Amino acid sequence: MKRALITGITWQDGFYLSNLLIEKGYEVFGMYRRSVLDVHERVPHINPKVNLIEGNLRDAASMISVIKKYMPDEIYNLAAQSFLPSSWDHPELTCDINGMGVLRLLEAIRIVNPKIRLYQASSREVFGVPEKSPQNEETPINPLNPYSAAKAFAQAMIKSYWEKYGIYSSFGIAFNHESPRRGKEFVTRTISHAVARIKMGLQESFELGNLDTKRDWGYAGDYVELMWLSLQQDKPDSYILATGETHTIREFVKEAFKVVGMPLTWEGNGLDEVGKSDGKIVVKINPEYYRPGEAEWLFGDISKAKKVLGWEPKTKFRNLVKIMVEEDLKGAKKEKLLMNS
Ligand code: NAP
Repeated sequence: MKRALITGITWQDGFYLSNLLIEKGYEVFGMYRRSVLDVHERVPHINPKVNLIEGNLRDAASMISVIKKYMPDEIYNLAAQSFLPSSWDHPELTCDINGMGVLRLLEAIRIVNPKIRLYQASSREVFGVPEKSPQNEETPINPLNPYSAAKAFAQAMIKSYWEKYGIYSSFGIAFNHESPRRGKEFVTRTISHAVARIKMGLQESFELGNLDTKRDWGYAGDYVELMWLSLQQDKPDSYILATGETHTIREFVKEAFKVVGMPLTWEGNGLDEVGKSDGKIVVKINPEYYRPGEAEWLFGDISKAKKVLGWEPKTKFRNLVKIMVEEDLKGAKKEKLLMNS
């Protein structure tokens, strides 16, 4: 039975990847960092077959002892300070987790067992504002914030450790991927959660920024398959994880209201634009969230992953919105029941 260690088990990708690896017959160790809240309360959704273990990427000794104790064949490093705006509030912390954390992992692998294979979750943010579209594995790296600068550093370390020590480590350069497990601070989940609550009469409206911002959004459940495949090859490599399609936030909102049977119309322009359903305002623009002229040319080219790994995402945009809204609707129904009980 192969053993896998997943860092960042508590959030989105950790959930989907642990399920996939358990299906494939792995013994899975999911690493979380200690907090006052009991871990089982924090991750009630996680598969009970996952062995939850404590560790912290900020501490080299902790990483060495976790690897020594559980002796994984594969490590999937999903842990990160992954909310980009927070990387400006906590630049040093972000670089420590997202950059130095990967170096600590590589060192721990080198010291304990250089045969362990590592997958590193990187981000399309490393491209900054690229000159060409779509982006692929050859697109020049040009990070423009602490989050992506740390991810770029991690990529460079991974390549160096392969060259110097032969440590097998692949990285995936992921475009946005979403699911019902996405944090509510991310726009897709803000929308699915609010739409479900509006449908259940738990709130009247919600606020967004630029509705015409475009994103290449995929489903996290599809992307974890590539993570696993990238560690089953003869040589480590880097791969783009994307859908190759972009959609606007406006489209996401409209689809989300469609899922709950509330057709939406838009009125007004710019900061005064509103979304209405059944004559009531349900979406407003908040200038605080408004970022004009955002990168519309950001979308990924997955030709390499298709050719080398035979991977491509299965979930289309409409289905992704449906999956997210339907799950949040279940939560909103429970919330309503609790309120009325
Ligand atoms: P996420 O929801 O932000 O989860 C991050 C995880 O990292 C959490 O489980 C968090 O644990 C853990 N963590 C943070 N600091 C840690 C530390 N010092 N030691 C150990 N664990 C720590 O991330 P996600 O959306 O699942 O994404 C997974 C990875 O893919 C991340 O590295 C992210 O940067 C990358 N990525 C994601 C996307 C996307 O669209 N989702 C796109 C590109 C790249 P706590 O519960 O304790 O906070």
